[in-house]
This record gives sequence, C-alpha cells and structure tokens, in this order.
Amino acid sequence: MCYAIHFPEKVEMPCPECTRAMEVGERDKILSEYNVPLKRIQDQEVDATLIIPEHCPECGFGLKEAKFQLDIKYPDLPDPVRVELESHRDLELMALFLTGKDRYTERKGGNGQDMPLKDKVDRLQELFGVVEVK
Ligand SMILES: [Zn+2]
Repeated sequence: MCYAIHFPEKVEMPCPECTRAMEVGERDKILSEYNVPLKRIQDQEVDATLIIPEHCPECGFGLKEAKFQLDIKYPDLPDPVRVELESHRDLELMALFLTGKDRYTERKGGNGQDMPLKDKVDRLQELFGVVEVK
C-alpha cells in the first residue's frame, strides 16, 4: 500500500474586508511563523515585543509586504532597541542562539542545509541591537 502525502490545494477567494484575493489560512500561517519563535525567545527571559505591520484584519494583506519589527527591552537601557526583521527566519536564529544551539538550517531552493550558527553572528548582533554605533 502506498500513500502519497496530500497537500491541501491553495484556495483563493476575495477577502470580505478589502476584496483583494486572499489565500485561505495565509494570515494565520504568517503570524504563527513569527509567533512560534518569538515565544521561544520570550521563554529565555528576553523582553521582546513583536511589532506587527498594518494589515487587513481579515486576510492579512500587508503582512507579506510590510516588514515586522522587534523591540527588545534591556534592563540597563532606558529605551527598547528596535530592529527590522527580514523574515521570521531572523526570530528563529535568535531563538536558536538563546537556547545554546550552534547550528541552524539554511534553506535554499527547498533544501535545508545544516550550517554553523556562528556564520550568522553579524546578523545576530544586529538583531539583538548590540552593534556598536560608529
Ligand atoms: Zn483583506
């Protein structure tokens, strides 16, 4: 007996709010891509707040186009450090770093490649807002 993995087909329908074509479940998918690693960062007692871009509340239009931002509040700084996220992968890198992992998976064209996390140290410094101001 052979079972093929069945992926649900993409279903597009006009959004009831903004009438743009929306993909069913896309809004929740994008939000969870950010919220899952965010939770892991917060679990490490980092005071991080996700700044979600303006978007249509029904279909999430705008979530894909606009950049998410992250605020981190450090106890010894008066103001939170804000960084712009390129994608949810940035949060995943931070979560890996905080949980003491030294490898991450680089995704290229659908394939995952196991890479040392130290390759991303520059990006991690930017993300944690510890880059020296020149
Ligand atoms: Zn919409």
